[in-house]
Amino acid sequence: MTGRIPRYTRDGVTGAEVSEHPFATDDGLGLNLTRFRRAECDDVVLLVHGLTSSSDLFIMPEHRNLVSYLLDDGFTDVWALDFRMSNRFPYDTETHEYTLDDIADYDYPAAMRELRRHIGDRRVHVVAHCLGSLSFMMSLFGGRLPGIASVTCNSVALMPRVPRWSRLKLRYGPPLFEYVLGLAFLDPRFARSPRLTKEWALARLISMAHRECDVRECHMLSFMWGSGRPAMYEHDNLLPVTHERMADLCSACGINYHRHVAKMVLAGHAVKFDPGDRRHSDLPDDYLTYAAKVTTAILLLTGDRNRVFTDSNIVCYSRLSNVMPGRCELEILPGYGHLDPIVGKDAHLEVFPRISQFLKRQVT
Ligand SMILES: [Zn+2]
Repeated sequence: MTGRIPRYTRDGVTGAEVSEHPFATDDGLGLNLTRFRRAECDDVVLLVHGLTSSSDLFIMPEHRNLVSYLLDDGFTDVWALDFRMSNRFPYDTETHEYTLDDIADYDYPAAMRELRRHIGDRRVHVVAHCLGSLSFMMSLFGGRLPGIASVTCNSVALMPRVPRWSRLKLRYGPPLFEYVLGLAFLDPRFARSPRLTKEWALARLISMAHRECDVRECHMLSFMWGSGRPAMYEHDNLLPVTHERMADLCSACGINYHRHVAKMVLAGHAVKFDPGDRRHSDLPDDYLTYAAKVTTAILLLTGDRNRVFTDSNIVCYSRLSNVMPGRCELEILPGYGHLDPIVGKDAHLEVFPRISQFLKRQVT
């Protein structure tokens, strides 16, 4: 198809040496780090995507992406992680019962081991989005990631809060889809299923409630991720080409992680899925238990039109500033939603500078 941006393209980053660094987790999954190096740098930045997206969020060729912004702004050694939630892997659409505890316990410690093999003891700053942010913070606050200089969390951190409609979906969605409809995962491309299949019918039904645009994949993503028309971003903040290829950036997704998120929403903060799970006995049942011991600087970012995790990061900021005073900052992004702070057409003007300024405050 002419003019279509190919998936997984690296064309969005120029003037950097790019290398791939596959590694394995302790529970046997193959994951990957991609390094974008322009020069040696004392401060390494690691980018972490969210559920069903991938490192592609940070290297999109149609706008000035975060990797390019950081490279140009003096952070000349940037890494992007693809962990088990990445749409570059099949893990989330094949049968599994992974929880965010698995990611906190297995994915990030393994990623950091691989990263440290290459960068030694240089400072590491992490910028993470969505459930990548939540699970990374669980790993950090669970004591699995010593020596992280700073973490920037977009949309959500340790206190996931969602709109009422999303609460209903979190509670009733997994049994409804798995046991009644027989769908093990949801795909923004369901509208392209053969006519009259249940996937096609579901997408048609959802599109009937979404008249805000004519991109059916966008309607499905709103249904999958939040409460709003659209739910994940402000349309005005996206380039048309980004809006049209959103199903490339945020793809099909299993629904088991939703069970863990539902439990955390009910608890009001990050908790272990199954306190009796011996595989994760080294992680706390309550991820805020040891918050006072965390020395990492934290920037909580949120759009003021966040219709996926609403005011999660504002509430989290209040909680963390009491427990770890002086180490936590909050930036509210006017006119932004959940995902557009990363993929928006003007993110390099309105969002990335705030991230970069925070990083620079940590190194001076
Ligand atoms: Zn749309």
